[in-house]
Amino acid sequence: MKRIRVHGNQSIKRDKEGQLTIASISIHMRSRVPPSISTNTNIIQLHYKGMDSAFIFKYPTRSILKVCTPVKRPYNILECSYIEVQEWLKETDVILIPIGSCEKHGPHLPLGTDSFITLAVVEKAAEKANVPHTPLLPYGYSPHHMGEPGKGVGSVTLRGRTFRYLIYDIALSLIYHGFNKLVFVSHHGSNTKVMDDALRDIRYRTGALPVWYKTPTERDIKLIKDLLKSSPEEAPGWHSGEEETSVLMYYRPDLVKMERAQPRSIHAPKWLGEKFVKTDGAPTIEFMGSENIWIPLEHHEYSDNATIGNPFISSPETGRAIVERISTHLAEFVKELKKVNVPVHYRDFKERAF
Ligand SMILES: [Zn+2]
Repeated sequence: MKRIRVHGNQSIKRDKEGQLTIASISIHMRSRVPPSISTNTNIIQLHYKGMDSAFIFKYPTRSILKVCTPVKRPYNILECSYIEVQEWLKETDVILIPIGSCEKHGPHLPLGTDSFITLAVVEKAAEKANVPHTPLLPYGYSPHHMGEPGKGVGSVTLRGRTFRYLIYDIALSLIYHGFNKLVFVSHHGSNTKVMDDALRDIRYRTGALPVWYKTPTERDIKLIKDLLKSSPEEAPGWHSGEEETSVLMYYRPDLVKMERAQPRSIHAPKWLGEKFVKTDGAPTIEFMGSENIWIPLEHHEYSDNATIGNPFISSPETGRAIVERISTHLAEFVKELKKVNVPVHYRDFKERAF
């Protein structure tokens, strides 16, 4: 059973015959998918995708809450009963696991930017490939985004080992229940840095196949390059730039404050001296024309406002196109993965009674 709260404002008028009619109606639903609406003289029906019955407003009722039964089982296992998880497992052994971050972005974007982008892609890909997904893990590996102590930046980071333990326990739980292929999806590039050890551990110990799908971002934007207006010099796939701002404009426009946006800022840390060059957020730094040096820098050492790309040429249309493109790519990958046979040889979760 799925409950959706519907509330709205109606203005009512009498027509020439004295009948009450609805002059206008605005309806707010706690859902991103708008319903199709049909009306006659005194009934409004909201036909909601995935529901087998409509919400019916009977005039003069201002709002009602109706319980509908979803035709399709939920994709997010947080909304599934164990019966529905068992149904999923009869159909597929693949599951998507969205991993985000909670970290400082430019002043126009929320801390959850990477989380929201990851979720936008995973929700659509799960539907396109018909596989379930776990709830989002809203924290990731973001020590470089902590800012200075007491400055109130708000970033929450996991230490590398904490993060690996979390990934490991999530994976073992899902393998325990019967999933064999685990597709971790993350828009936060730095989450990838600390993950190899955990993914190998999962694969070697269980035989299951963990996969890390980084949504095209940072320097790896080949898949979406033609959708972006920024020049390569403007680092379109990087922090708070065109890609991230556009997707947020599409997925969570209520959280984008463009009046606060600032021009991009990227430079080598001033304390290093003038011989060093930095053009994007990669962990490397250029010295004498070569970029083979890696230094664990803090984000505020090389960007004054956590804005590396150009946010001013962003649009919700670009954001929608990006989410469509990436979610289709991910869904196609998942469809291929469904065909692969992965023999799991260890499915226990040791720290339990029996
Ligand atoms: Zn980001």
